[in-house]
Amino acid sequence: MRPTAVIIGAGQGGLAMSRCLADRSIDHVVLERGEVANSWRTERWDSLRLLTPNWQCRLPGYEYRGDDPDGFMAAPEVVDFIAAYAKDNAAPVHTGTTVTSVRRTDGGYCVSSDQDEWQCQVVVLATGAFNVARIPAFAEAVPSSVATLTPMTYRNPSELDDGGVLVVGASATGVQIAHEIQRSGRPVTLAVGEHVRGPRDYRGRDIHWWMEAAGVLDERYDEVDDIVRARRVPSMQLAGSPERATFDLNALTGIGVRLAGRLAGIRDGRAQFSGSLRNKCELADLKLGRLLDTIDEWATTNGLDDSVPPPERCAPTTVAEPPLLGLDLLGGEIRTIVWATGFRPDYSWLDVDVLDAKGLVRHDGGVVDSPGMFLIGMPFLRRRKSSFIDGARDDAQDLAAEIAAFLDRQASSAT
Ligand SMILES: Cc1cc2nc3c(=O)[nH]c(=O)nc-3n(C[C@H](O)[C@H](O)[C@H](O)COP(=O)(O)OP(=O)(O)OC[C@H]3O[C@@H](n4cnc5c(N)ncnc54)[C@H](O)[C@@H]3O)c2cc1C
Repeated sequence: MRPTAVIIGAGQGGLAMSRCLADRSIDHVVLERGEVANSWRTERWDSLRLLTPNWQCRLPGYEYRGDDPDGFMAAPEVVDFIAAYAKDNAAPVHTGTTVTSVRRTDGGYCVSSDQDEWQCQVVVLATGAFNVARIPAFAEAVPSSVATLTPMTYRNPSELDDGGVLVVGASATGVQIAHEIQRSGRPVTLAVGEHVRGPRDYRGRDIHWWMEAAGVLDERYDEVDDIVRARRVPSMQLAGSPERATFDLNALTGIGVRLAGRLAGIRDGRAQFSGSLRNKCELADLKLGRLLDTIDEWATTNGLDDSVPPPERCAPTTVAEPPLLGLDLLGGEIRTIVWATGFRPDYSWLDVDVLDAKGLVRHDGGVVDSPGMFLIGMPFLRRRKSSFIDGARDDAQDLAAEIAAFLDRQASSAT
């Protein structure tokens, strides 16, 4: 089979690309190992809701149509949203088709799957940034008496043994999971490294409304000082709860969660935490202050000061002294560890030399370091919002233009 383009993955990224290629009459197929929106169907814990407001669920030619624009969709609703998008566009998706290899050929690429083989000029990698839970190497030293889970295997607190839980990592995933486990009556210790603090609402509006309005989410990859670092920044401590609750560390300690520093290692059955918790919290407070300064400046410049409540600042993060530096994992206090230490993509099927030392695809704003190969869905691919649903909208439009230009160049060099 010889379509011009093959898109691998039918999440929001692949489907947004499909829509934009269709708009340009570029024939293509979308190959998906599961169902459309597979990761939202199979890789999320039960209570997960979007942390982005519903009104921000926008894809090329499509947007949220429900009656709760300021609410936050639960994972099954996200599945419905993305599946409806695929249906609306009559996207040419081949479900149940796992790509097993992509390799270069004279004319472009050969994409092999467990179903068929495709020859194409263009390949779009839309397989997602969050395929595999990232776990530190010292996880091997966890005593066998302690159960371990990742956000991909964790479903809800009732599946855990009674007793203490160590949640490692305090980004959006870690704080949400820590919160619901603590609420279930299992005492949580949360290991906190570098993190990004954020209130759900600020001056009467959702923090994502402000970040969008002030241009923070649209900041471009070629405008930031250090894009390598920017791509590694952890996700903001946010959750989309019906109560619009803030999920920062003060909220967690308020319900009884115990904080520790970054988990630095495990030796002889003892978890060892870094003593940097206070510093990390002060840094996160400082960065939040800077974000709120940016928002306030934007509000003043744009004449909003009279129509929204006045500026306010969040209370500094409270850190208990002395810091917890060690925790016995053999004594029975901790029954479960949840590794909320991030995710990484899986390119084990990619036979083209485009991966860097960290196993990430080398690219310039989604234009991969191999002619005719493109990438979508990575953190800060082209904009700060790139890995969000809303980010796929602008990135897909930009990349479709890049793909069209590439095909034009190919056509003119052939003549
Ligand atoms: C826990 C969590 C919460 C998030 N919350 C939000 C949020 O609130 N708001 C927001 O905007 N974003 C959120 N995101 C980020 C982002 O929107 C999601 O990760 C989203 O799923 C990314 O879409 P995608 O299309 O890039 O990748 P995915 O949805 O992961 O889609 C990739 C697809 O590729 C398929 N695939 C992978 N390998 C192969 C292969 N070899 N062959 C065939 N198919 C393959 C997968 O099955 C999958 O369907 C969240 C992410 C996570 C992990």
